Parts: sequence; C-alpha cells; structure tokens
Amino acid sequence: MADVPAECNIKVLCRFRPLNQSEIVRGDLFLPKFQGDDTVVVGGKSFSFDRVFPTNTTQEQVYNTCAKQIVKDVLSGYNGTIFAYGQTSSGKTHTMEGKLHDPHQMGIIPRIAEDIFNHIFAMDENLEFHIKVSYFEIYMDKIRDLLDVTKTNLSVHEDKNRVPYVKGCTERFVSSPDEVMDVIDEGKSNRHVAVTNMNEHSSRSHSIFLINIKQEHVETEQKLCGKLYLVDLAGSEKVSKTGAAGSVLDEAKNINKSLSALGNVISALAEGTKSHVPYRDSKMTRILQDSLGGNCRTTMFICCSPSSYNDAETKSTLMFGQRAKTIRNTASVNLELTAEQWKRKYEKEKEKNKTMKDTIQRLEAELNRWRNGEDVPETERTTADVMTRIESVEERPILDNDTSSIVVRISEEERQKYEEEIRKLYKQLDDKDDEINLQCQLVEKLKQQMLDQDELLASSKGDGDKVQAELGRLQVESDCAKAEVKEVLQALEELAINYDQKSQEVEEKGLQNQLLADQLSQKMASLMELEAELSRMQEVSGQQRKRIADVLNGLMRDLSEFSTIVGNGEIKLPVEISGAIEEEFTVARLYISKIKSEVKSMVKRCRQLENMQLECHRKMEETGRELSSCQLLISQHEAKIRSLTEYMQSVEQKKRQLEESHDSLSEELAKLQDQGTMNAHEEYFFRNLDICSFHFQKIRQQGDSHRGLHHKQLARLRDEINEKQRIIDELTDRNSKLELELAQARELQTLHNLRKLFVQDLTSRVKKSSEMEPDDSGGSCTQKQKISFLENNLDQLTKVHKQVRNAHNGREELSCPSALPPTRSTLTSVPPNRPTHTATPSSRAT
Ligand code: ADP
Ligand code: MG
Repeated sequence: MADVPAECNIKVLCRFRPLNQSEIVRGDLFLPKFQGDDTVVVGGKSFSFDRVFPTNTTQEQVYNTCAKQIVKDVLSGYNGTIFAYGQTSSGKTHTMEGKLHDPHQMGIIPRIAEDIFNHIFAMDENLEFHIKVSYFEIYMDKIRDLLDVTKTNLSVHEDKNRVPYVKGCTERFVSSPDEVMDVIDEGKSNRHVAVTNMNEHSSRSHSIFLINIKQEHVETEQKLCGKLYLVDLAGSEKVSKTGAAGSVLDEAKNINKSLSALGNVISALAEGTKSHVPYRDSKMTRILQDSLGGNCRTTMFICCSPSSYNDAETKSTLMFGQRAKTIRNTASVNLELTAEQWKRKYEKEKEKNKTMKDTIQRLEAELNRWRNGEDVPETERTTADVMTRIESVEERPILDNDTSSIVVRISEEERQKYEEEIRKLYKQLDDKDDEINLQCQLVEKLKQQMLDQDELLASSKGDGDKVQAELGRLQVESDCAKAEVKEVLQALEELAINYDQKSQEVEEKGLQNQLLADQLSQKMASLMELEAELSRMQEVSGQQRKRIADVLNGLMRDLSEFSTIVGNGEIKLPVEISGAIEEEFTVARLYISKIKSEVKSMVKRCRQLENMQLECHRKMEETGRELSSCQLLISQHEAKIRSLTEYMQSVEQKKRQLEESHDSLSEELAKLQDQGTMNAHEEYFFRNLDICSFHFQKIRQQGDSHRGLHHKQLARLRDEINEKQRIIDELTDRNSKLELELAQARELQTLHNLRKLFVQDLTSRVKKSSEMEPDDSGGSCTQKQKISFLENNLDQLTKVHKQVRNAHNGREELSCPSALPPTRSTLTSVPPNRPTHTATPSSRAT
C-alpha cells in the first residue's frame, strides 16, 4: 500500500444553539443571519465556514455531515481530531456528548462509538482490531486521568516518530459500543467525585477522549493504526466577563494560557511561518500537536450563542474559526511496513543515494572549475533539474525556501549540532516533565500521608484529652476516698470508746439479769397456781355456758316460731344452738332486728289504712249530702208532676163540659131547624156556636201540646232518678268495702301492740339473763314465768294471725264482708297479759 501524504485544510464547522429560556425571558435579540449552508452574518460581517449549522439542526444531521467521515478515515489508518471551541454554555458539550443515553439527543462521541463497531463488523474478516480508549482532562495545565483518580499530573512524551502522547495514562480495551459508554460514564463520575462545583470546573477544563484503533491483516500481517482525539475545550470567554477573582482568576489565567497557546499555534499555522509553532507552550497544544498542522484530519466545531448579549464573544469565536480554517494539515496513513515493503524502500533509498553521490561529484567538479577561475558555461552548470530529480526520489517534499535560506546561513555541521542540541533539550524537557510528574505524585502521596498523620494526631489528641479527663476523675475519686478513710477511722475510734462503755454496762446488766431471773422463777410459780385456778374456773364457766346455750336454744326456737307467725316464714333461725354465746346473741339480735323491720312496715300499713278510712268517711258524708239534695229534687219534681196531672184533669173536665154544651147546643139547633123558624136569635146562636167550636178547637190544641211537653219532662225525670239510684248503690258498695278495711286495720293495730309488748319483754329478758348468769338459781323462776308468758302470747298471736290471714283470703276470694266480725271478736277477747296454758311446740319450761 502506498503511503501518500495528502495535504488538506482543517475543517471548520460553525454551530449556533437556540436562544435559551433565560435569554428569551430577558428579551435578547437573535443575532445570526444564515446565508446558504456555509455562511453566517453577525453584526453585518459575514463569516464563511465549511458548513454552518443553524439552531434547528439535529444531532444526527451534525454527525452525518461531518463526523461520519472521520470514523472511516480513522479506520483507514489516518489520525483524526474533533474539537469543540466556544464560550461557556454555547453548546460544546451538547455537540460532543449530548445526552449520552438518549438516542436522539446523543452527541458525536456516543455516535462514533457505535459507528466504529458498525464499520468493523462490516469489514474484512481477516482484519483483527484492537481498540483502546483513554479519558483525561487538563485543568490548570495538569493532566488528570479520569479512569484512575490517583493519576493527577501525567506528562507528555514523544514516541519514536516524535509524535507526542500522554505517558502512563490508563488505556481500556473495548469490544463494543456499550463498553465505550461504560468507560465514558466511569470517567464522568470520577470527574464529579473530585470536584465541588461541576459547572465551574467543566467550563474551566478541557476534556479529551482518545480512541486508538489498531488493525492487522491476519494473512498479510499488514498493520494500520489510527488515533481519534475528541476534545471538549474549556470556555473561550474572557476573564473579565465572568468576574473571577483570586484563585479563580489564577485558574482562568491558566485556562486562558492554554487556550491562548492554542490560539497562538493556530495563528502561527495560519500565517504559514512554520519556523516556530509554539506547541510547547501548553500541554494541551503539545498533545494536539499532530492534530494541528501535522499528520491528522482535523475538524473543529465553532459553537456560538445567538444572543445579542454574547455578541462580542460570538464574534471573537467566529474570527478564531476563520483563522483556523486556513491551517493546512498533511495527513498520511500510519502504515507499518512489511519486509517486502522495507526492501523496496531500501532499494529506493539506495538509488537515491547513488544519484545524490553523482550529483555531488558533478557539483564538486563544477566548483573546482569555478575556484580555478574558469568560467563554466551555462549548459555545463548543474541545474535545478537535477534537484527536482532528487526531490522526486525523496519520500517527503523538501523544506520550503525559508529553510534553505537558513541552511545557507548556518553550516550543515552547525545545524546538526543545533538540532542535536534541540533534541537533547527536548529530551531533558521530557525528563524534567517525568521528574515533575514523579515529584507531583510524591507530593500527592506525602500530602495524603500528612492528612493521615493529621488525622492520627487529632485522634491521639482526642485520646490524650480523654486520658487526662480520666486521670482528673481518678484524682478526685482518690481524694474522696482518702477523706472517707479518715472519717471511717474516726468512727472506729468512737466505736472503740463506745465498746468500753457498753461492756461495763453489760456487766451491770448481767447482775440485774440475775436478779430478774430470780424474780421470774417466783412469778412462774405463782403463774402455775393461777393456771390451775383458771382451769377450774374454765370448767365452771363451761357448765354455765352450756346452760345458757340451752336457754338460748329455747329462746331461738320461740323466736323462729314467732317469725313464722309474724312474717311469711322467710326469716329463718338455726334450729339448734350450741356454739359460742356471742354468736348466738348476734343471731338473735339480727333476728329481732328483722322482726322489728317487719313490724315497722305493718305499722306503716296500718297508718295508711287509717288514712284511707278517714278519706272514705269524708267521701261517704259527701255522697250522703248529694243523696239528700237528689231526694229533695225528686220530691220537687214529684210535686210538679202532681200539679201538672191536676191541671190536666181540670182541662179534661173543661173539655168534657164544652163537649156536653156543644152536644146540647147542636140538639137545640136541630130542634130549631125542625121548627123552620130562622130568626135573629138563630143567627146569634149560630154565631155563638161557631165561636164556641173555635174555642174548643183551640183548647184541644193547647191540651195536645201540653201533653207532649209533660211526657218529655216525665221521661227526663225518670232517667235522672235511675242515675241517682245507681250512684247510691255504688256508694253503699264502697262504704261497705271501707268498713271492711277499717276492721282489718284495727286488727293489725292490735297485732302490732302485741308484738311491741313481746319485743319489750324479750329485750328485758335477754338483759336479765345476761345479768343473772353468774348465779342462776335466783332468776330461773322468773325466767321460767316469762318464758311461759311469751309462749302464751305467741300462741295467741299465731291464732290471731291465722284468723286474719283466713279472713283476708276469704275476702279476696269471695269478697264477702260477713267473714270478718268473728275475727275481730277473737282478737279483742284475748288480753295481752292473760296467762294461758295452751300446749306449745316448745313447752319445755313446764
Ligand atoms: P458548553 O459545554 O459549551 O458550556 P453546553 O453544551 O453545556 O455548553 O450547553 C449549554 C446548554 O444549552 C445545555 O443545556 C444544552 O442542552 C443547551 N444546548 C446547547 N446546544 C444546543 C442545541 N444545539 N440545541 C438545543 N440545546 C442546546
Ligand atoms: Mg461543557
């Protein structure tokens, strides 16, 4: 394959981003006017580039028009570089990276990563590819490896072909677009970790992504290699605009230094004075040495803001682009020659050498002739023709005129010497760079160590403080303990003295004890006697208790019977009493209190009944009065009826008289008619007759009406009489009922009196029994009497109660009041104190 160098200009592409939100809000003007697809007019001045992208250009369009070709070039063995230049926020990163994982918004780098592999997959199967990527940034003229954060200051060296490269930077082998993206992600995250203000940092640093592709033909062993630099430069704006100060200003200067170095390199290249290009002014320009005016196909993106606010920056950016456009690179394929190719090259060189030697001989001969004063005719002189022949044999074109003029001035020897010196100096420079890098690394290490030591110191200090505090605490504690010991010793002394006193006291007490023991034995003897007496007494008391129990038993039984009489058998007593007297008493007391409450309720009922009786009397009187008034009314009505009947009779009589007179008159009339004499008497008579009949009619009518009235009045009076009769019946009913209740109440009253008496007696008896307990012989007689009296009374009560209950039941069942009188007579005939000797269930007393 022929290694044909091709000269070409740097491609400059201009891209305008759209106005951003804050610019729109601020009301900034949209400056650029696009003419065709390679010219833009800003502020009346037109700028032409290889291509101008207006604001609405998509990422894909940008990539297809410019970057796609570069991938092909790199795969063909050329070096390539894509720059993005422009002020901060003009769209450099947008163009180079875009949104890395968004298929539409992704920029050039991710698209290249994909495209490279697409090409490789479509290429000859016999080609073997080795793809490496590196990622680093240049900040303050220090190269920081973004794939290994420990490498913070890498140096730039030249390889055997005198091409600069970053020595020692991490290279990652990749075999797919995803792996490339992973490397980018890793580098970006490392960049973020080390930096506090990412925006500021990214605008002041250059980031460089390097793709290195080597390919080898498996059969021919032909090797090709291509390097692709993808550079996102720092913001090109002037420092004054950002208003930086202090260390920020230093940074800015540094960035500007590297950017101005780039500007100078581009200016020098643009002017075409290749005598000195200041690549070595900054690390960035050194790295990109080959990309600018060297063996490289270079594309530069000029990113611009369309806003009127950024007018000045936009213009200066456009000017920079214009200058860069004139730079010419000479790109050649990086081919490693095979043995055959080397052989051919050697032959060529040998041939060239031979012609050169011939030429030199000819020139020497001509020179000798000139020196000898001979005038060499023009036809015999060595011409430029010979030179061109030599040139044609040479691989590379010879240097331009300037160089030859220098050669004239400086002897070959000197030149070689200088070149040697320059090479040495460069070598030294590189060595120094290396040394600096080493020193920097050492410094970093030492810094780290210092930080560690500081940390250790701080922690030791903390420990020391803690120990000191502990010590203080212990001191205080020991002081306290000492004071305590002193106190304890004092207390011990006091105790010793006390002990002496106490031992003396103990001796005294011992003597006293002896005495007391004697006394105690005496007392014990007397106690024995007393105990004997006590047992005797206990015996006696036991007997007494037994007797009392008996008495109480009797009493209790009586009481239980009493309860059956008084209550309805709800109050129960223990049938046999033999336990402690106290208990029995309490039982009796309880029982009595129950009876008491029962009696109380009865009294209450009695009182209610009495009240009711009074009420009934009152009502009876009232009804009596009403009755008498009714009777009066009836007698009045009867009198009225009587007078009315009399009147009726008189009217009847009158009627009859009138009828009779009528009859007589009509008879007379008949007679007169018979006589046939009609005179004035007759007329008069007739008239009288008419009048009479008229009166008669009237009277009859009156009688009729009177009769109707009378009938009505009579019916009403009858109804009234019936009503009254009913009321009287009711009242008599009620009266009899009330009388019945009254009788009942009286019975209850008597019962109540009896009970009261009984209770009094009972209490007095209990009292007496308790008093008489010590000598029972005197009181036993009266006691017996009382008991028998009680029995009698209870008997009476039982009877009365039964009668009352019977009467009550009878009344309720039959409502027959005649069942009561006998009860009352029985009740009243039993005097409360009369002793009777009826057999009772508990007649033990006899
Ligand atoms: P720089 O890297 O030059 O500082 P950026 O690339 O970060 O600037 O761009 C700044 C902002 O403008 C970003 O939010 C970016 O998305 C947006 N931007 C830049 N160029 C374009 C464009 N061509 N189209 C749309 N938005 C853009
Ligand atoms: Mg950026």
